[in-house]
Amino acid sequence: MTSGQREGGCSCGEVRYRLTSDPLFVHCCHCLNCQRQTGSAFVINLLIETDLVQVFAGAPQPIPVPRDDGSAQTIFRCPTCQVAVFSLYGHSGFRFVRAGTLDDPAGVAPDVHIFTRSKVPWVTLPESVPAFEVYYDAKTLWPPESLDRRDAVLAARA
Ligand SMILES: [Zn+2]
Ligand SMILES: [Zn+2]
Repeated sequence: MTSGQREGGCSCGEVRYRLTSDPLFVHCCHCLNCQRQTGSAFVINLLIETDLVQVFAGAPQPIPVPRDDGSAQTIFRCPTCQVAVFSLYGHSGFRFVRAGTLDDPAGVAPDVHIFTRSKVPWVTLPESVPAFEVYYDAKTLWPPESLDRRDAVLAARA
């Protein structure tokens, strides 16, 4: 992962955001929900503290989207062009920023591949990146500083 600030936004330019830190971790998710939501084979999400996502133009609109397990995921979309810029799963202290909306999508690479049980067969994963049929244990995979940052958010909102 390269370090420093990253910026991104929607297709029409109304919504612009800045990430003021490196992400905690980068997921490439091959689950059926992500495939349906994106209309693609997988999604790449930058996990980062909500406080470190500065929206400096526009107001992404939260849309509750049903998931296969009966829960809802909140997807934040540009109110005009409706492009999804980030989402919220469960804990409001974290955002899952869609890497494809970054100005430089190639500036991040997945730290882990998850839900590979529903990966499309024509996508071949690199040997060098951990991959899991379903999910994984952050404690064994995340860098210590990311775990510390995560714990700080969880403690603040407990
Ligand atoms: Zn837009
Ligand atoms: Zn997914």
